[in-house]
Amino acid sequence: MENKQMLMIPGPTPVPESVLLSMAKSPIGHRSGDFSKVMEECTSLLKWLHQTESDVLMLTTSGTGAMEAGMINFLNQGDRVLVGVNGKFGERWGEMAQMFGMEVEIINAEWGKPLDTEVFREKLEGDKNKEIKGVIVTHSETSTGVLNDLETINKYVKAHGECLIIVDAVTSLGAVNIPIDEWGLDVVGSGSQKGYMIPPGLGFVACSKKAWKAYETAKIPRSYLDLMPYKKSAAKNTTPFTPPVNLIFGLQTALRMMKAEGLESIFARHQRLTAATRAACKSLGLPLFAPDDAASTAVTAVAPTNVDAEEVRGVMKKHFDIALAGGQDHLTGKIFRMGHLGFVCDRDILAAISSLECTLQKLGVEGITPGSGIAAAAKVLAES
Ligand SMILES: *Cc1c(COP(=O)(O)O)cnc(C)c1O
Repeated sequence: MENKQMLMIPGPTPVPESVLLSMAKSPIGHRSGDFSKVMEECTSLLKWLHQTESDVLMLTTSGTGAMEAGMINFLNQGDRVLVGVNGKFGERWGEMAQMFGMEVEIINAEWGKPLDTEVFREKLEGDKNKEIKGVIVTHSETSTGVLNDLETINKYVKAHGECLIIVDAVTSLGAVNIPIDEWGLDVVGSGSQKGYMIPPGLGFVACSKKAWKAYETAKIPRSYLDLMPYKKSAAKNTTPFTPPVNLIFGLQTALRMMKAEGLESIFARHQRLTAATRAACKSLGLPLFAPDDAASTAVTAVAPTNVDAEEVRGVMKKHFDIALAGGQDHLTGKIFRMGHLGFVCDRDILAAISSLECTLQKLGVEGITPGSGIAAAAKVLAES
C-alpha cells in the first residue's frame, strides 16, 4: 500500500511527524539571531544527550564524515593505531586510517562475535614506549548486530594513559548508555539518521579536552572537516559554513522529545524492544547472529537456516510494507536485520513480529508454531 511503509532498517530510521512538520517551513538566515537561539538550544541538548560538558560539534555530513573528522583532527600520519574490526563499519575505519597514512593494527574478531577485550589489554599493556596513539572501536556494529564491550576496552585505554579512544557510536548513541565524561571517551561520532529520529544529513562529533590537546600536534591536511572552526563557532551559537537549517529545526524538535522522555527511559525502551525481538526470533526457531550478552540495542540480525533471508525480506516488503535490511559482503543472503532504533515503540515490534510469522508461513517454512513468536514478544513487553 502506498504511504504505508514501515522502516525497520538500522538507518535511516522512522521520523516523528512533529519533527517532519518542524522542518516543513522556509529556512531562515543562518547568521540571524533567531537561528542562534536554535543553535544554542541544540548545543545544550546535544551535550545532555552525550552526557558531556565538552564540545559536541555538528557537521553537514553523514556519520562517516563525523568519524573521518574524528580521526584526522586528532591523529597523525605514522601514528600507531589499533582498530577493532568485527564487521563492515570497523573495516571501514581500518581502511580509512590506513588511507591517512596511519600505522594500522587491525584487531579482528569473527563477524557476529564481539571484539576480544583481552587482545586490547595485551597490546596496550605491552606498549611500554607509548607508541599507540589511538584506539578505534565501533560500539554497535550495525552490520552484524553486535554490541562491543566499549567500557572494558576503554578501561585499558585509560590505563595506557597516552592514547585516545575514538568511538563509532553511530547506532549506540541514544540506544544504550554511553556516559562520555564519566568514562572519559575522547572522540565519539554519530549521525542524524540513526538514534536522533531525524533524516540523514548531520554528523556529530564529541571531543574531549585530551583530544583538543592532541589537535595541537595533528598535521593531517584538512579543510572543511577541520574541527577548530566548528568549535569556535559553536561557542558563539553559530556555524562556520551554511548548515542544513531545516534539518536543525528537526533536530531541535527531536532533542526536545528525547529530553522529555529521559535518557533512562530511552535506554530501557531500546533494551525492551531488543529483548522482545530476540525472544520472538528464538521462539520461531530463527537463529540470532549476535550472542545474548553482546546484542546491539539498535538492530537484531537473524541468520535463518531453513529459509532464504532475502526471500523473507521480499515478502515482508511486498505484503507488509515493512523494510528490513539485508546482510553486507559475505553475509549477503545469509542474514536479515531488523532495526529497532530511535522512534520505535512496542506496537511496532508486535506488528513486525506478527508480519514475520505470517511471512514464514507464506514461504512454507516448516517446524514453526504460528503465534509462538508474538507470544514470546508479548511476554517480554508485558513484563518489562
Ligand atoms: C550508519 C553507520 C555509520 C555511518 O554511516 P553513514 O552512511 O556515513 O551515515 C557508521 N557506523 C555505523 C556503526 C553505522 O551504523
